[in-house]
Amino acid sequence: MNIAIDGPAGAGKSTIAKKLAKELGYIYVDTGAMYRAMALYFLEQGIAPEEEAAIAAAAERAEVSICYQDGQQQVLLNGENVNGRIRREEVGNMASATSIYPAVRTKLVALQQKLAKSADVIMDGRDIGTCVLPDAEVKIYLTASAYTRAKRRYDELREKGEECDLSAIQRDIEERDDRDMHRETSPLKQAEDAVLIDSSELSIDGAVAAVRAVWQERSRKAAGGAAAGEENTCR
Ligand code: C5P
Repeated sequence: MNIAIDGPAGAGKSTIAKKLAKELGYIYVDTGAMYRAMALYFLEQGIAPEEEAAIAAAAERAEVSICYQDGQQQVLLNGENVNGRIRREEVGNMASATSIYPAVRTKLVALQQKLAKSADVIMDGRDIGTCVLPDAEVKIYLTASAYTRAKRRYDELREKGEECDLSAIQRDIEERDDRDMHRETSPLKQAEDAVLIDSSELSIDGAVAAVRAVWQERSRKAAGGAAAGEENTCR
């Protein structure tokens, strides 16, 4: 079974997906990290986000792959582990600006689909339920208000001792939402068969429980379907 979790930045997708993957023995795949690795390459090559032809040519040269160390996903860019360098705001913004291009998406979607074929995965991103894994047995659209998401990011940065401005973070989040939701190729939207979970008022464990409940229900249905199938073949 595959679990697809989509939603806007800061809704808690990766925290929840990681916890549930550990509990269920699934492999967690963070697709945002792949777009970030590509974006890091474009930044290093000095390409501006508007230069579509140069981005498409660079995407051809950028080999992104993933591996796992102590159960943690590591992203490799042309064979080099870039995990420690992809979390900067600059890289996130470049990822958001360049993930609109089909040349970038086609390459990464193919990698994601290959991964999902080889194991049970919980994959999070923006287009997993709608485009990457349209047949995923469990689809979740996880969201939260822009204020809640900005506040979570603000608290995280403050905890690290970084100075930051809550309204600037919220503005940044809203801009990113707007770009992700209104781009032409694979915009962020809830798949028709996805279950909507709003994590604004939920604790992490509460959100994990909500996703787990959907998974349990789908697993029961799948088992029932398989049993009915067996019965049919006996007749
Ligand atoms: O999830 P994360 O914030 O790390 O993703 C960075 C950016 O990559 C997002 O803002 C989005 O534009 C892009 N992305 C995407 N499709 C995905 C995952 C991420 O377009 N499946």
